[in-house]
Amino acid sequence: MEYPRNFDGNFEISVCEDKVFQQSESPKRVLVTGGAGFLGSHLCALLLKAGHQVICADNFSTGLRRNVEPLMRYDGFHLIAHDIVEPLDVEVDEIYNLACPASPPHYQADPIQTTKTCVLGSLNMLELAARYDARILQASTSEIYGDPQVHPQVESYWGNVNPFGPRSCYDEGKRCAESLFFDFHKTRQVEIKVVRIFNTYGPRMRPDDGRVVSNFIVQALKGEDITVYGDGSQTRSFCFVDDLIDGFVRLMASPASLTAPINLGNPGEFTIVELAEQVIELTGSRSKIVQRPLPVDDPRQRRPDISLAERELGWRPRVELTAGLMHTIDHFDALLTQSNTLPEV
Ligand code: NAD
Ligand code: UDP
Repeated sequence: MEYPRNFDGNFEISVCEDKVFQQSESPKRVLVTGGAGFLGSHLCALLLKAGHQVICADNFSTGLRRNVEPLMRYDGFHLIAHDIVEPLDVEVDEIYNLACPASPPHYQADPIQTTKTCVLGSLNMLELAARYDARILQASTSEIYGDPQVHPQVESYWGNVNPFGPRSCYDEGKRCAESLFFDFHKTRQVEIKVVRIFNTYGPRMRPDDGRVVSNFIVQALKGEDITVYGDGSQTRSFCFVDDLIDGFVRLMASPASLTAPINLGNPGEFTIVELAEQVIELTGSRSKIVQRPLPVDDPRQRRPDISLAERELGWRPRVELTAGLMHTIDHFDALLTQSNTLPEV
């Protein structure tokens, strides 16, 4: 069955013309932690479209009610205000554990809560998975590679992480979460999936999220200076949200024997200055590029090796940076027009 691309005015799911969403033959009860966040809200919408019941648990620390409000009128959608640092008891078949702030300024604002969310939150969700025999997917991150000395990053690389720097609450928290996932699999036979996500962007990022794509677009639309940290020669690989969510669902549906951590990201690699120039060109902005100090421990380079995902999931990203940026610019432009203002970034 083919679905309309827009099942709700605010929930455009895909920019891929040829993407067809299948109604699931076996609808499930699915818990999405962090479901009111950027990635989580896209995932909840897609799972609902596929006919699943979705329970979204979020403490709204960085997530927004407006991200999931259009889903509230669907019978299959349930929203729970819950901090996963505390145990949760809901009977489910699958868990996507996405709860955790992802933007450096946000996860560094309360680093102890970030570590607790990664470690205690994962522990609580793994206990829940064990109790109900549910399959569980962990949103891990390319940050577990730290400032990588192997390029592009392959899953077998152990990483280069500062254990006590400003990023360590997140990097080490996510590394500990991976360790917990593998130990629950080994000792309690929990069915696990671990996805290492590389920088992902798209509609419904917060304008004040603080990550580079949203910052640059908001600055360009407002005609403000584009703040490049350092000399802008550091690189990142940017994946459009639809591609990533497609990878999540494929991974969750993969054979139980696939437990290895798996990179999902777009292998196209850009310097931060190149990104700034693209955003200026696509928005037609008169903003100027200015330099700001490089944050401590900012990784020099990032690019995923996605051969494992290609081989095991038949997955590769389809949305080029220009198309994804255009779509994201449209989203922020609409926000700006609605509110006539965007917050400072
Ligand atoms: P986000 O900040 O938009 O979403 C995180 C969500 O988790 C928010 O809704 C927030 O309110 C919620 N949350 C945070 N702590 C919580 C807690 N203790 N209990 C319950 N809810 C909590 O970030 P995002 O970009 O959507 O990222 C989602 C997940 O993907 C995160 O785990 C992040 O580490 C991971 N990830 C994202 C990226 C990316 O580029 N977007 C890259 C790597 C990893
Ligand atoms: N960055 C930048 N200007 C900004 C925000 C970020 O130059 O306004 C840089 C940041 O220093 C990093 C890159 O862009 O080198 C990606 O930053 P982001 O916070 O998006 O993600 P992460 O560092 O976690 O990959």
